[in-house]
Amino acid sequence: MKTTDKITIIGGGIGGLTMALTLQRNNQKFKLFEKSEEFKEVGAGIGIASNALKIFDKLNVGKKLREEGHLLKKTILATEKLKPLKTVPFPEEVYCIHRASIIDTLSNELDKDSYELNKEVESVENKENIKIKFKDNTFSEFDTLIAADGINSTIRKTVFPEIEIRPANQVIWRGITKFDINDDLKHTYYELFEGGLRFLFLPLNETEMFWLAVQKKKNFSKNSTTSIKNYLLDTYRDFHPIVLDLLNGTAESNILQNELADIEPNYKDWFKNNVVFIGDSIHATTPNLGQGACQAIEDAYTLGLCLKNNESNTFSEYQNIRSKKVKYIVKQSWKIGKMSLIKNGLQKMLLHLLIRYFPKRQYQRRFNKVIDIKYLNELENTTVNIV
Ligand SMILES: Cc1cc2nc3c(=O)[nH]c(=O)nc-3n(C[C@H](O)[C@H](O)[C@H](O)COP(=O)(O)OP(=O)(O)OC[C@H]3O[C@@H](n4cnc5c(N)ncnc54)[C@H](O)[C@@H]3O)c2cc1C
Repeated sequence: MKTTDKITIIGGGIGGLTMALTLQRNNQKFKLFEKSEEFKEVGAGIGIASNALKIFDKLNVGKKLREEGHLLKKTILATEKLKPLKTVPFPEEVYCIHRASIIDTLSNELDKDSYELNKEVESVENKENIKIKFKDNTFSEFDTLIAADGINSTIRKTVFPEIEIRPANQVIWRGITKFDINDDLKHTYYELFEGGLRFLFLPLNETEMFWLAVQKKKNFSKNSTTSIKNYLLDTYRDFHPIVLDLLNGTAESNILQNELADIEPNYKDWFKNNVVFIGDSIHATTPNLGQGACQAIEDAYTLGLCLKNNESNTFSEYQNIRSKKVKYIVKQSWKIGKMSLIKNGLQKMLLHLLIRYFPKRQYQRRFNKVIDIKYLNELENTTVNIV
C-alpha cells in the first residue's frame, strides 16, 4: 500500500460522510466525490444504536444528533392485533432519527473544499496509483480510494466483480406520518408479526411516526390501477386499527418501496491494492437488526484510526478488526428476516411461541454483542486522540 497523502472517498451517504468527518477531525487531507447534486437521503427514519452514537460523540456530533432524534426505550414484539408476545428493554441508547438530519449534520461539519457534488465515478484503474474516470469525462488520481458508494457500488463491480448482491425476495414499504403519540407509544418500537406480513412502527419525534411494512416478493401482487396506499390498506386490513391509521395518514407520495437484499459475507477481502471498502459497498445487510448504517459508521471510524497509524498493513488491520462482527450481523439479520415471514398457520403459531419463549436475556446478549465497540479502546490507545 502507498502512503496516504492523497485520499479520496467515493460516496456521500452516511458511511462516506462519517469517513470524511473522521479524516477531517484527524487532520488528514481527502476529497470526497458524490454523484448527486446535493447530499441527500430518502424521506425515512433510521434506528441509530449506541455503538454509532458513541462514535458520533467522538466526532463531536452526538449531542446534535440526539437532539434531532427520538429516544427509544424498548421493543415490543406483538401479534398483528397488538397483543404483546415479548417486551425487551434496550440495555443502551437507541434513537430514531430522520435520515436527512444525519446527512445534514455530518455534511455541515465538512470543509467546503473537501468535497465535490455532481461527480459520478464511471470507472477506476486500481494499480500503483488510482485513476478515476468520472461520468463528466474528467479524470483524477489518488494514492488511496475509500469506496463508500453503497450496495450497488461501481467500485466493487470493478475491483471484485465476483461479489454478488443477494436478493432477500422481500418487499419493504416505509412512510412517515403525523400521529397522536400517546405515552404507551412514546418510546416504544413495535414489531408486529402476522405470519406472511410484518409491520413495524416507532416514533420519529413528538408528533410523527415512522413505519415499515414487509411482505414476501412473491406475495406482492398489485393491480396497476391500485395505489400502493390502497394496496397496503387492503393487505393489512386485519391488523390493529393503529396500523390502518398510520397507513391512512401517510400521503401516497411519501411511501417508499424497496426490495431487500444484502451481500452474503462469504468473500475474502475488503480491499485490493489501494482501494478499500466501507459500509454497504462491501457488507450490505438486511435491516432486521437495524445495523447497516451503524456498521458503516463503525467502519469509517476504525479505518480512520488505522489510517492515522499509517502502518504498512493498514487495510488488513482494518479488515481484521471489523470483519468478524460484521459477518455475524449480516448472517443474523438474514436469518431473522427469513424466520419472521412464514407460510402457514402452524408455522405462525410456532413463530409466536418462539418469540414468546425465546429468553429475554438472549435478545439482550445479541444486542450487547452488536453494540459492543470495546475493540476501539485498544486501537485508540495506540493512536493519538483524534478529535
Ligand atoms: C428499509 C431499510 C431500513 C434500514 N434501517 C436501518 C436502521 O434502522 N439502522 C441502520 O443502522 N441501518 C439501516 N438500514 C441500512 C442503512 O440504510 C445502510 O446500511 C446505510 O445507509 C449504508 O450507508 P453507505 O454510506 O454505506 O451507503 P449509501 O447510503 O448507499 O450511500 C452511498 C452513496 O454513494 C453515492 N454513490 C453511489 N455510486 C456513486 C458513484 N459511482 N460515484 C459517486 N457517488 C456514488 C450515492 O449517491 C450515495 O450517496 C436500513 C436499510 C433499509 C433498506
